[in-house]
Amino acid sequence: MNLILLGPPGAGKGTQAKRLVDSRGLKQLATGDMLREEVSKGTELGQKAGKIMAEGKLLPDELIIDMIMHHVLSGEQKNGFILDGFPRTVAQAEALDHMLANKGMDLDHVIELQVDEDALVARLVGRFACGKCGAGYHDVFHKPTQDGVCDQCGGTEFTRRADDTEQAIRARLQVYRQQTMPILPYYRRCGALKSVDGMADIADVAQQIDSILDENGG
Ligand code: AMP
Repeated sequence: MNLILLGPPGAGKGTQAKRLVDSRGLKQLATGDMLREEVSKGTELGQKAGKIMAEGKLLPDELIIDMIMHHVLSGEQKNGFILDGFPRTVAQAEALDHMLANKGMDLDHVIELQVDEDALVARLVGRFACGKCGAGYHDVFHKPTQDGVCDQCGGTEFTRRADDTEQAIRARLQVYRQQTMPILPYYRRCGALKSVDGMADIADVAQQIDSILDENGG
């Protein structure tokens, strides 16, 4: 099963994708995570990407398409994949169609997480993650049970994304409205688009997604 999770930054795409990796053995292809890895390794791509990402802007389509093509075509995912953070422009959506057609692969679901923009800023400004296992936390909504200690692995180092500042978040939301939202009618036309209420709590959103995935025998 191959699916796309769509939604603005902070909608919960990464959280839901990670759950689907565990529950269904799908492979998460998160372009943002791939880029952050390049940045932390200091590669040529990482050096180019870091500044653009910190400003909340999108990287050039060709570059992202090449990166995702490498992963989609690598055949690493036997149960299917979840695209998280890609496509983000109509050109990327069209390139994905070509890529999948060439490989004889289908896109089974495109799921949009619908959220209220004002709530997103609060969600994103406060989020942080365990530097060891990646478990996600929030200053207000989801603190570790013991202050400064990860609930999952006991790690004591935490990280915050460089682009989770209010200024970068506003820029990312504007980019989403202008460059990514035009993808929605693209997928609506071909009947693949389903929407869920991303403002519900994590378990509820998970249930909404599961019922879409299981609708046609999963
Ligand atoms: P994310 O982790 O998905 O929020 O992505 C973080 C940042 O990586 C974005 O704000 C962009 O700068 C860059 N990025 C991730 N995916 C894409 C994409 N599909 N197209 C262009 N830029 C991207």
